[in-house]
Amino acid sequence: MSSEKTMIVVEKLCKSFAGVPVLSNLDASFNKGEIVSIIGPSGAGKSTFLRCLNLLETPDSGRILIDGVDSQEMDVRKLRMKMGMVFQQFNLFPHLSALENITLAPRSLLKLSKAEADELGSELLEKVGLAGKEWAFPKELSGGQQQRVAIARALAMKPEIILFDEPTSALDPTMVNEVLGVIRSLAYEDGMTMAIVTHEMRFARDVSDQVFYMDQGVVYESGAPEVIFESPVRPRTRAFIRRVDTFSFDIFEDNFDFYRFDAKIDDFAMKHLLDHERRETLVDLCENLFDNFFFMFTKRISFTIGVTEEKDVELRFAYKGEEVNPLTADINSDEPVDKFTAVRLLTKSVILNTSSRATYTRQGDDYVLELLIPREQKRRA
Ligand code: ADP
Ligand code: MG
Repeated sequence: MSSEKTMIVVEKLCKSFAGVPVLSNLDASFNKGEIVSIIGPSGAGKSTFLRCLNLLETPDSGRILIDGVDSQEMDVRKLRMKMGMVFQQFNLFPHLSALENITLAPRSLLKLSKAEADELGSELLEKVGLAGKEWAFPKELSGGQQQRVAIARALAMKPEIILFDEPTSALDPTMVNEVLGVIRSLAYEDGMTMAIVTHEMRFARDVSDQVFYMDQGVVYESGAPEVIFESPVRPRTRAFIRRVDTFSFDIFEDNFDFYRFDAKIDDFAMKHLLDHERRETLVDLCENLFDNFFFMFTKRISFTIGVTEEKDVELRFAYKGEEVNPLTADINSDEPVDKFTAVRLLTKSVILNTSSRATYTRQGDDYVLELLIPREQKRRA
């Protein structure tokens, strides 16, 4: 099974917790120097799989070969030197500075002198974009910075393999990119074998050599990122990739923070593989609608963004108050010119330029504007 090219081979891996199977005869193989993204629904066993790989969990049965050696026969310390891991929750030592967090293991396990370890630590901090933060404590760093220290700490052992378990899931959306950027740069360097459990589909697609789709305790489908994201073969992979996903939040005129909104849209766009142009369209459209329409007559909007199976984006804006329907605005109509007519006309043209479907309805107490932004950009009229 194992050859010069393979770094990790997993055969019939089984793991149960209290009699409940979590991994069921999982087979997988990672080539040397390969970047593998692991995607799949929550509860699929992704974390358990990574934890079995570096012996944080003991498999019930099956075999894991690391560079040709059965992991059960390896000294745990040796295995962990070969294989680093980065967790969702950073897990830095709170009472140690960034540099001390990084140098602890190389000093005790690799027997580096303090000077050597400090030099290595500073180099690694620079590599993850944190030059000068040697003496900062974790609580003085943002989540994104802490995670970058955690990556530097894993790199300090010069591992041949590095495992990332949802490294950006605990971060504020504004910090996701700085961490993905660091991981991306590692992926482009030669040599290291990487496994990354992630929900960042755009990222997974860009950096991976292989994608594993995990479901119900097995690698249910694997393949090149183009195949898994565009034409997966098996039904559960297809359902997962095409799943309609939405998220909602309330927007208040008083403290509307455009940068935060932008970051949330960015996050959503990345998750759903929306290209840069569509993301821009969405952000421009929403900003325009908030500033030049909704905030004229309401202080609060319930905003929902969703993506359909066809990758069209659905926007929903709900508010309480006056009926102000932009879609019925008509420059030639005989209706008396109320104070909203110009605004409605302008808004109507913005909507017609971007949306392939638009409805304005009363739903319970709310007035609701729903727009469908098609996958193919609408040409500007
Ligand atoms: P994923 O990372 O894909 O979300 P996990 O590997 O974390 O999935 O968990 C898979 C299943 O195993 C879940 O149902 C979870 O509750 C269960 N599980 C994971 N670790 C433990 C544990 N230490 N004890 C009991 N159940 C666990
Ligand atoms: Mg997990």
